[in-house]
Amino acid sequence: MTMQRRVSLLGATGSIGDSALDVIARHPDRYAVEALAAHRNAGRMAALCRRFRPALAAMLDPDAARTLGRDLAGAGLPTRVVAGAEGLLEAAASPAADTVLAAIVGAAGIGPTLAAARAGKRVLLANKEALVVGGGAFMRAARDGGATLLPIDSEHNALFQCLPADYAGDPARAGVRRLVLTASGGPFRTRPVAELAGVTPDEACAHPNWRMGRKISVDSATMMNKGLEVIEAHWLFGVPIVMIDVVLHPQSVVHSLVEYVDGSVLAQLGHPDMRTPIAQALAWPERIESGVARLDLARLASLSFEAPDRARFPCLGLAYDALAAGGTATVVLNAANEIAVAAFLAGRAPFPAIHATCAETLERMPARTVAALDDALEADAAARGVARGILKLPADAPGVAVTA
Ligand code: NAD
Ligand code: MG
Repeated sequence: MTMQRRVSLLGATGSIGDSALDVIARHPDRYAVEALAAHRNAGRMAALCRRFRPALAAMLDPDAARTLGRDLAGAGLPTRVVAGAEGLLEAAASPAADTVLAAIVGAAGIGPTLAAARAGKRVLLANKEALVVGGGAFMRAARDGGATLLPIDSEHNALFQCLPADYAGDPARAGVRRLVLTASGGPFRTRPVAELAGVTPDEACAHPNWRMGRKISVDSATMMNKGLEVIEAHWLFGVPIVMIDVVLHPQSVVHSLVEYVDGSVLAQLGHPDMRTPIAQALAWPERIESGVARLDLARLASLSFEAPDRARFPCLGLAYDALAAGGTATVVLNAANEIAVAAFLAGRAPFPAIHATCAETLERMPARTVAALDDALEADAAARGVARGILKLPADAPGVAVTA
């Protein structure tokens, strides 16, 4: 009989939250929901509380927390409702939870994700932005806290599965020559570049293979998502930038590959369905059913690969340059991107302004050393201000797309 794990789900009302709860619901003997946390969708949160009966529910928005509290009390549920940034931290570090799924979108996820890492949890990491901002400081906090970091971003989960089980952040020792991240190319892979100035948020969010939240969907359309993932892979696996490549693979079946010095290339394959990496990380080192359909290779018939077009996807190059510059550069890039993507989704900026804003913010803010996490958080706030200025947005314009 396996021990029952108690899971705290940060970003419970989102796309990753959905996939995770679907897997959890298939294994009530193995997993119970200890805490749920989200931004402000009280209605969705109430429905989740009725179904999963967590001990704790956290909402960032205080009004949403009040609405939720009334609703749950009326229904006679025992769930305790907490609010604000403090409430999120409580859900992240709840002593009764051993596993924390970090799936808040954007740099807003860094506080709770860090709290879970410091508390020594098994952290299932979806929130790449927190790692891009936190970088080495985040990795050290996780190590010092005794946390187990398990990536569920599909590419990093694939790399994790293709690396040796005892991989300890030393590629040379493991005989690793190169990490290859696959990228679908998103909805605009073949769209004439001249038309990109006129694309709408809905077109940018219509990903050919994955159904995801709107922020990461836009990042996939610009390929900034892959850029952030290169940075994420660098920190997670201790691999230098020159050993991380990106290849376009429109079918999204091969989720990433590890090349070894002997010429072997190991890949992980599966349908593009986040329940696979989530189930892998939830059960690791065991395996559980995820509900994902079996892969029928004969039916797929062919898988194709091509080099990414750097002119069509300039954000990818920007991310490589920022990682090479080091220090605050990746933080600045991520912050400017969050502001620009939110502006695009709100109809306040055209699609090409995302790259232009990121490039200009980086130009105006030369890279500085990050000695501690505070340096990164300062650069994050400053870059948001610069990006808002470039886009002529009000000083309080939201940083991530309005979320549930
Ligand atoms: P989403 O927009 O569908 O959901 C975001 C969740 O975060 C919601 O529950 C929302 O309430 C919550 N949230 C947003 N801002 C918050 C805040 N300030 N405080 C507290 N909660 C907040 O996004 P998603 O697609 O589920 O993505 C979540 C994260 O996972 C992102 O970092 C994304 O890059 C990463 N990720 C997602 C996928 C995917 O398939 N969706 C794949 C890989 C990685
Ligand atoms: Mg990914």
